[in-house]
Amino acid sequence: MKIYILTDMEGISGIWRPEQVQKGTSEYERGRRLLCEDVNAAIAGAFDGGATEVVVLDGHGDGNNFILEVMDDRAIYETVKSSLEVMPSLDETFSGLIQVGCHAMAGTLNAFLDHTQSSTTWFNLYINGRRFGEIGQAGAYAGAFGVPVIMVTGDKAACDEAQSFFGDIEVVAVKVGLGRNKAKCIAPKMAQKMIYDAAVRAVQRAKSGEFKPLILENPIEMRLELCRSDYADEYAARPGVERVDARTVRKIIKSAKEIYYW
Ligand SMILES: [Zn+2]
Repeated sequence: MKIYILTDMEGISGIWRPEQVQKGTSEYERGRRLLCEDVNAAIAGAFDGGATEVVVLDGHGDGNNFILEVMDDRAIYETVKSSLEVMPSLDETFSGLIQVGCHAMAGTLNAFLDHTQSSTTWFNLYINGRRFGEIGQAGAYAGAFGVPVIMVTGDKAACDEAQSFFGDIEVVAVKVGLGRNKAKCIAPKMAQKMIYDAAVRAVQRAKSGEFKPLILENPIEMRLELCRSDYADEYAARPGVERVDARTVRKIIKSAKEIYYW
């Protein structure tokens, strides 16, 4: 039984200052150690729940956040080759997707570092009329391969968002956002215990077929509202992208496998 783990940093336990997710700051080294510990807890839980193979994507920013020598030696680790690629190894042979360290979509109240793809240029993304963030997009992408989201960890807002998309999956809220730039946390050790337990349950429940993949109805309309009209100019110049108004562009795709390709 194969499980894919997609990781981000904003929703990692013990990360409660923006500097902890920014490379080149003194706080980042601490942040990435916390990332490794949450991810290791999810990997251990997945194996103990019955996974036979676990593939993990180092997904924050341009990757290269994991300290590989401290990572669980049973899993396989991958990064993307370009920004057009997400979860390169994910295919129909996987039984579940776990998202670790998630943040809520742009414009969510009391959500630590909420954003959708770009915190400086993207304002809102709508897919078939529904507002989507990164959690929902990953679920729809995996859904196109028949793979359900079985667990999400992050702040409380990210967990609420995940349940609004995927229903009764396993979630672990490791903190509550106090506005956008601060958070109230439980201790990482406690969070990691909760992540381990949730991953065991998630994989056991996946084995008994409790989760359904998120399937988008075709054709899929993606409508992207940028923060400024000059950002929209760039998108409007790309093949298949249509201008809606000064700040909005739209694109029709045939499969959620194209969800990240603007
Ligand atoms: Zn991130």
